[in-house]
Amino acid sequence: MFTFHSIQDYQQALAEGVCSCEDAVKHYLSRIEAGKHLNAYTQVYDDEALERARQLDKKRRAGEKTGALHGVVIGLKDVIAYKDHPLTAASRILTNYTSVYNATAVEKLLREEVIIIGHLNCDEFAMGSTNENSAYGKVLNARDESRVPGGSSGGSAVAVQAGLCMASLGSDTGGSVRQPADFCGVVGLKPTYGRVSRYGLIAYASSFDQIGIFGQNVPDVARILDVISGEDDFDSTAASGKKEAFSPLLDQPAKKYRIAYFKEALDHPSLDPEIRSALLDCLDSLRKDGHTVNAIDFELLDYIVPAYYVLTTAEASSNLARFDGVKYGYRTHDTDLELTEFYKRTRSEGFGKEVQRRILLGTFVLSAGYYDAYFTKAQQVRKRLVDRTDLIFNDFDIIVLPTAPTTAFAIGEKMDDPIAMYLADIYTVYANLVGIPGISIPLFTHTNGMPFGMQAMTSRFKEVSLLQFSHLMIQQFKSYENPTLCD
Ligand code: GLN
Repeated sequence: MFTFHSIQDYQQALAEGVCSCEDAVKHYLSRIEAGKHLNAYTQVYDDEALERARQLDKKRRAGEKTGALHGVVIGLKDVIAYKDHPLTAASRILTNYTSVYNATAVEKLLREEVIIIGHLNCDEFAMGSTNENSAYGKVLNARDESRVPGGSSGGSAVAVQAGLCMASLGSDTGGSVRQPADFCGVVGLKPTYGRVSRYGLIAYASSFDQIGIFGQNVPDVARILDVISGEDDFDSTAASGKKEAFSPLLDQPAKKYRIAYFKEALDHPSLDPEIRSALLDCLDSLRKDGHTVNAIDFELLDYIVPAYYVLTTAEASSNLARFDGVKYGYRTHDTDLELTEFYKRTRSEGFGKEVQRRILLGTFVLSAGYYDAYFTKAQQVRKRLVDRTDLIFNDFDIIVLPTAPTTAFAIGEKMDDPIAMYLADIYTVYANLVGIPGISIPLFTHTNGMPFGMQAMTSRFKEVSLLQFSHLMIQQFKSYENPTLCD
């Protein structure tokens, strides 16, 4: 029987001939079949994944040099382009669309010999916090199937949680990797803005979007980041400079961190008291271990959700203008329409309710007369946040926050109240507004049986520190064992 604990163990087993890539793919295909009702995948590339596994087995057995992610079975959120495969953004408007190129991250993964097993369900155009806004239907949280997995990368989180692949890619514009990781009890990393190329990632809000990684443990996430990070001629916002390796640095000699948390965040009325006390207890232990832990004032907290929703909807209204039924994707079947009516009809039929809401909101905040009141104001807030954050990182290495105010919601709980849904993003959107890396570390179990994590952030491009800290936290404090993970 095939078992998976980490990429390192798996690759060692491959090298020793204890298992093969084909065994791994067969195992995941049968798990995917058994977990079909979770609805994590929008597409499964079964034959192709098996064929690739056999080729990789052959190559390895022939003694050829293997890639850094040789045989690793990966799922991709359905907003990341994989050449000659469907790409839908979980939207009707991209029905029957096939990608004509690979995202840079995918290109790099393939070069290092991963096996892509399928595309994963998500909220339409990555807009949402529960995966309920998908044209392919909702995804179930494998820990408790009456609850949501979080979103927007719900499928990517459940695929790792339920052992339907080894690791997965998602995207994080305002928490879409960290929050579902938190709800599902897995590790979810959003790298620094620009750390991973966005080329081939369907754009939601371009100055916020970042490809992120889900894994069962920190070393696996670090190994994938080693591969997918780095500059890219196709994305001018991808950071230039020397490519870094993260995974070899995880076990550095123990360091004493200077840790800050926001008083207003932990005293916020929306925060579940159990999450609050678990975090405070953990911070206390860190203090006793000789780390510096300080509560700091963060008076800007209540501005971050409004600023995020003004700016991201503005960017989305422009990014989604390309889906017009003319160039590609869905087109209304009504052929007797004049042009404006044709656009309207196509977009009303092709986009779901939440996407339409955001396009309208974004168009409104950009309109003459309201631009300064909303868009300019929100940009000013963003600037204030960046300045304040730089000051914090003069004195601290790490900021700790909850990842989400509660554990996973019940299915349907927040669907009729978009504002309540938006407000639940209070702890995650900050990192995207200021461009810093953030991670959700699965440490705790709530008395309701659901997992929850600690969110940690560092200043820009300090992923080495962030991953080292996360690795340490898991080794010292992890009390959550994921019962849904299958060996
Ligand atoms: N929940 C956030 C939103 O709805 C996050 C989305 C994301 O990160 N893609 O915008």
